[in-house]
Amino acid sequence: MEKILNVIGNPGTACGTCTPKGCESCGPAPRKNETPAAFSRREFGHAILAASASALLTGCSSQKNAEPADGSAPAAPTPPALSPDLAVVQTSKGPIMTSLDEFYKIGPGPSSSHTMGPMRITYDFFQRVSKVPEDQLQRATALKVHLFGSLSATGKGHGTDRASLAGLLGKAPATCPPEFLDGLAANPDQTYKVTIGPKTLDVSLKDIVFDATKGDFRHPNTMTAKLLAGNESLYELEYYSVGGGFIEWKGYKPPDKGQPKYPFEHAGELKKYLIDDKIPLPQLLLANEMAISGKSEKDIWEFIDQVTEVMVRGVDTGLTVESVLPGPIKLHSKAAGMQRNLKTTAKGAAGRAITQVASYGFAMGEENARGHIIVTAPTAGSAGIIPAVVKSLRDLNTPTQQIRNGFLAAAAIGYLCKHNATLSGAEGGCQAEVGVGSSMGAAMIAQALGASPKVVSNAAESALEHHLGMTCDPVAGYVQVPCIERCAYGAVKAWTAYCIASEEIPEERRVDLDTTIAAMALTAKEMNVKYKETSEGGLAVSVVLC
Ligand code: SF4
Repeated sequence: MEKILNVIGNPGTACGTCTPKGCESCGPAPRKNETPAAFSRREFGHAILAASASALLTGCSSQKNAEPADGSAPAAPTPPALSPDLAVVQTSKGPIMTSLDEFYKIGPGPSSSHTMGPMRITYDFFQRVSKVPEDQLQRATALKVHLFGSLSATGKGHGTDRASLAGLLGKAPATCPPEFLDGLAANPDQTYKVTIGPKTLDVSLKDIVFDATKGDFRHPNTMTAKLLAGNESLYELEYYSVGGGFIEWKGYKPPDKGQPKYPFEHAGELKKYLIDDKIPLPQLLLANEMAISGKSEKDIWEFIDQVTEVMVRGVDTGLTVESVLPGPIKLHSKAAGMQRNLKTTAKGAAGRAITQVASYGFAMGEENARGHIIVTAPTAGSAGIIPAVVKSLRDLNTPTQQIRNGFLAAAAIGYLCKHNATLSGAEGGCQAEVGVGSSMGAAMIAQALGASPKVVSNAAESALEHHLGMTCDPVAGYVQVPCIERCAYGAVKAWTAYCIASEEIPEERRVDLDTTIAAMALTAKEMNVKYKETSEGGLAVSVVLC
């Protein structure tokens, strides 16, 4: 599998062993001082995510365009050079080192890079300026945020400005109520008060500046935040929304991590611990999480409980709100209607159960489209699946600890897919987002309901297997069609996969999880770029909006 995966980032020539700066044999070194070409949102999104995912897969910070064997022109745009200093390009091979709070990120939808990242950035800035000495704060007159590159080019459609304003107003991404974000969007001219130490400042959407779309940026999603005294900058910092809700800033140093107690890179190694050494999956993952993050067991359970509550709250909200979703598609929400009709449906037990689970997936997917608070699982586009699974497990009165264990199992599947393939629609199509989300959901159900490690793995494999090849072709570039309905399907398929895996003889399953993850990686490599979040193929070009 190693061989297959090594060729994904730099098709045809990658060695997968070079330094973060790249090498001459597997790709050109990043070009300093080169101004990125103008990109549309789609090109930007594709380029950034492809570059990031490629770096994650190969350790290379830059890549060549795919060069077809027949010598025809490369299909994809060359991604903009990313600074080799960014931690996001300095990933290396070795045991999985992802921690839960890096994976399950809480913040506003619909885009982890264009909405969640900017809100996390301005909230970080709000906390920093709170520590500026009082005499400096007394002189402050304004807070300003400048959006550059893709954030400026496409931020309006993704609510980058209101998310940035919310963070600047001291609203934490994890706890910001949806009504607050809606209020910011509905009252674009309103001025808000923000108190920082002894000073109260007026802030509005006008303080979020859509600045240059082209320039010599260290990352295409660059923004600066400033505390001003007139024209004088009292404190400022340059930030980067590096994808998936992750953020960095100038001088960023990734947090020190410990070594996992039970290192693994593939499901096969994980299974040895579980089956040969008889270590329960939750115990193993908890020990790794504590070792990597340095957190206590109590902190870890509290974090999972917080994630659970955000998810369930999102589903509950989505089940009660009916609206036309933002954007040009004018898509009417469905979750509330589905839920209402359940009371009188004549669909029978099967129809009722499927409608119930699907409505939960719709509810959270629609909340994401509204720009409300979601949890990446594994991404914003696929954020409806795990909440639907959690909500349906709660319907069964599944004990809290069992649901926590399910979260750990789901994370393990996500980590394996991230480490050995990709979680990015721009790199691997929708199989990498909804497919992985469904696979995580299947593992979560199996673990929470007390299945054996083999059944957990088989359920995850089954769900992923039946998403292989699924393309990413969002209509009009909005995370709505097909994304929301796919969350509903992803949740239902998670249950289907668990039901199949729990009824078969586990040892007789002919396809294992590592094989299917490798197949996803290979499919991602061979998938036409039109189906990788470019909105240049499939539904995106077939659906005519009027
Ligand atoms: S279609 Fe694309 S944007 Fe939508 S959920 Fe799938 S991968 Fe994400």
